[in-house]
Amino acid sequence: MPTKDIKIVGISASPGIAIGRAILLRQEQVTVERAQLAHEEDAEKEVLRLHKALNQTRAQVEAIQKGADKANAVYDVLNAYMMFLDDESLVTEVENRIREKKEYADWAVFAVTNHYAGIFQGKEDSYFQGRADDIIDLGQMVIKNIRGDTAPQSFCLLEPSIIISKDLAPSQTASMDPETVLGFVTDMGSQTSHSAIMAQSLDIPAVVGARNVTTFVRNLDQVIVDGTDGVVIINPSDEVLDEYKKKQRSYRQLQKELAKMVKLPAKTRDNYSVELAANIELPREIDRAVEKGAEGVGLYRTEFLFMNREELPTEEEQFQVYKQVAERCAPYHAIIRTVDLGGDKFITSPSLPEEMNPFLGWRAIRFSLEQPETFKDQLRAVLRASAYGKLKLMYPMISDIKEVRKANAILKEATEEVERRGEEFDPEMEVGIMVEVPSTAINADVFAREVDFFSIGTNDLIQYTLAVDRVNERIAYLYEPFNPAVLSLIARTIDAAHKNRIWVGVCGEMAGNPLSAILLVGMCVDELSMSPINIPEVKLAIRSVSFAKMRRVAQEVLEMDTAGEIKRYLASCLPRESIKYLSSMRGMVGVGEKV
Ligand code: PEP
Ligand code: MG
Repeated sequence: MPTKDIKIVGISASPGIAIGRAILLRQEQVTVERAQLAHEEDAEKEVLRLHKALNQTRAQVEAIQKGADKANAVYDVLNAYMMFLDDESLVTEVENRIREKKEYADWAVFAVTNHYAGIFQGKEDSYFQGRADDIIDLGQMVIKNIRGDTAPQSFCLLEPSIIISKDLAPSQTASMDPETVLGFVTDMGSQTSHSAIMAQSLDIPAVVGARNVTTFVRNLDQVIVDGTDGVVIINPSDEVLDEYKKKQRSYRQLQKELAKMVKLPAKTRDNYSVELAANIELPREIDRAVEKGAEGVGLYRTEFLFMNREELPTEEEQFQVYKQVAERCAPYHAIIRTVDLGGDKFITSPSLPEEMNPFLGWRAIRFSLEQPETFKDQLRAVLRASAYGKLKLMYPMISDIKEVRKANAILKEATEEVERRGEEFDPEMEVGIMVEVPSTAINADVFAREVDFFSIGTNDLIQYTLAVDRVNERIAYLYEPFNPAVLSLIARTIDAAHKNRIWVGVCGEMAGNPLSAILLVGMCVDELSMSPINIPEVKLAIRSVSFAKMRRVAQEVLEMDTAGEIKRYLASCLPRESIKYLSSMRGMVGVGEKV
């Protein structure tokens, strides 16, 4: 019998409780898309591909076996692999799926191996339970040989499951289907890694930075993911399972209560209106954002349109997507951010170089300015789409005014091209920048004279100000949004914007945390943009305090010396009846409590 109730504490990445069977993704694991063969006659070709891959796998297993010590447990595992490879009925079952169901060979292998893994896991005998892992691993080897590649693509699971992995690239998280991925847990990562942000967008409970979780979980173990508190329980006992089912029900109840916020205005007690917008990664998220009460899109991370594909999207394809965003957001605005690739977000083509410090490297606007044709494709697409709604354009990762000028020069060329073609666009479209690098915040005055708006990207601003990698779970406790130096840069940026009569929003995760949200409103930001999932809570917090009080509190906070003092003070400013709803959501006090 497996050990019960193994508890692992990680970092809360996306709230909610998920309970299900684990699928362990090894770092190099391939995932498979379900698709039908286009032509019936392709089935025999697929069967040939299957046999070629089986022979290749047999040769690989034999080669490993030769070098393995017979007394070692690995030897038994390899024997089990051979047994499965030689099992005619198993191979026939895969062949039948290809011929009768017209499935691709890789999917047929994936389906059959997962089916048997489920049966083995259900047996009492630990020998069979061990075979569940073996057959999944072997299936992976065969699939890789069928496909001749190792790149992870998308998740398609036989039944709703919980993904356990060392790490997940944002492109992998983006391809998750919330219908089949109940939740996920990773060894690595932190609250503002893009995988965590994506999980919130998809409303998938997730825990990241759960160091070594992959060594404790076996395939098909039962797992509880408590994304609200950042806790993972492996093979829960009946009591613990009941406890979490109760917690799951009360979380859902809480969501229902918070849903009442949607129809209420985002106004403080003294009737001061606050603009609450949504951050989106995929256009299909807009409907959910509106459902949660968003008034527009404060940040569309367009780089996700460039991921999980071989070719870059064309101008026309981008135009269609941005047009859809403009139309669906009307009458509110949508801020389209030009691609922010690099850092922790990568694409297949052009391949980005491996760098020692990718977050300090060839990222975002630096990438776009060096690929003017690709950049112009995107700019023309946004310009054309601006004729269909209220679009604003935003450049990411600006660290020097020269970058703004260069980007604007390319934008001018793109505009002239669109004009020459006789296509419509909004000549008044506002152009702004992300303020997420300290140099830009410090010199915000200079930038404010040349752009139409600022959007403060606190996720990066914190990591660059404090020299704390935002995706490194080891130092996540140092990643402190309420550090006075961070707050002082934010205040400076807001001041510079308002002095120069431009508006300023915040689109980093700080906008979506009730505590920092009331502080930011008190500091007079004009818009808060966040993952839609956080809108109801933030609205509730805003509605429970007066603007006059927020102003006073913000002034006092800016005089304080430590993050701990600031957080305690802010928490004391929220009425008790509001905290009841807010504290059950994720990390009220951020992750820096350990300092
Ligand atoms: C930020 O840095 O705060 C931001 C919103 O951008 P991203 O998270 O995409 O880097
Ligand atoms: Mg950023």
